[in-house]
Amino acid sequence: MSEAAGSSLIPLQGVTGEELRAAVCGLAIEDARRIIAQVHRDESPAAPSSAIRRSAREAVLARSYVPKLELVAERKSSVDAFVKYALRTHDGHVVETVRIPLEVPGRFVVCVSSQVGCALGCTFCATGRMGLTRNLETWEIVEQVRVVKRGVTSGRIHGVVFQGMGEPMANLDRVLGAIRVMSEPSALAIDARNITVCTAGLPSGIRRLAVEAPKVRLGLSLASGRREVRRSLMPIDRAHDLREVLTAAAEHVAVTGLAPMWAVTLLHGVNDTVDDARALADEVLAFRAKTGKNPRVTVIPYNAIEVGAEGQADPFARSPDAREQTFRDTLSERGVFTHKRYSGGSDVAAACGQLAARS
Ligand code: SF4
Repeated sequence: MSEAAGSSLIPLQGVTGEELRAAVCGLAIEDARRIIAQVHRDESPAAPSSAIRRSAREAVLARSYVPKLELVAERKSSVDAFVKYALRTHDGHVVETVRIPLEVPGRFVVCVSSQVGCALGCTFCATGRMGLTRNLETWEIVEQVRVVKRGVTSGRIHGVVFQGMGEPMANLDRVLGAIRVMSEPSALAIDARNITVCTAGLPSGIRRLAVEAPKVRLGLSLASGRREVRRSLMPIDRAHDLREVLTAAAEHVAVTGLAPMWAVTLLHGVNDTVDDARALADEVLAFRAKTGKNPRVTVIPYNAIEVGAEGQADPFARSPDAREQTFRDTLSERGVFTHKRYSGGSDVAAACGQLAARS
């Protein structure tokens, strides 16, 4: 359970019914669940309800509150149905959340942030350039989904992907807490099988996710199957190299039975050669032989990072279409299933790797 910094009150949208029951002396589980359901319907927990005992409500109100993230900007893409939200925390930081439309009309996935900034410094990522300010609290992660949900007037939230600002495995206590709330029927009621946690590669977090959230999918941001290229793009590789990350991912498969999603952001002249594709295919085939699962490789076109006020030029460029196609064909020829991420929302800097670019 998480609480807002400096407060001993329980943020009601950051706990499950069971966690609320455990925190409030004498509270019955049915009352706890009904109060949580009320909060997630955006009703005040103080609003009377014949289904909730008055003494239970008063006990909860004395110990809790419903904090908010301030919506400071909502930018709708003019070319697709992406929406990016900028949300201000109580201590003045801005985090970003993206509503991603699925191919099925009226279904959306929410890309949530788990930290303000990120310490891992992947060179192709706007958030990585910010450094880490702090972890988000459980309620601050859940609240991002609630903000998006309020804007969905027809349709529904199908799933959540932890691929916004921050490395979720570096804030795993709160991320796991948020997953519990998101998937609880009396709270957000999102099927845990439609939640994906993406990591740059923290093996201990991968193992813990498998045990504590076995229905949740794992996403791996690999950058390259070539060791020296991956290391040049992702500083975390010096602490946990590809071998170690894929060993943990294989253990994740053994516990959950779920094939992980692998993602590669293609950078022109850096990781988009035929040799890069072959090296990646070799890793996929070795993983398949070891686990019996065939990871799908999501190829993400690079989205330019806006040049900062300090005048840093973007060191990377998007791989041309023909080169990207050759990369994917090379993988396919070796039996590796690939998928191109439609990386929409780039006109509002909501595309992959762009979060924080304009905050
Ligand atoms: S890609 Fe993910 S882990 Fe890497 S710097 Fe960006 S937010 Fe952090």
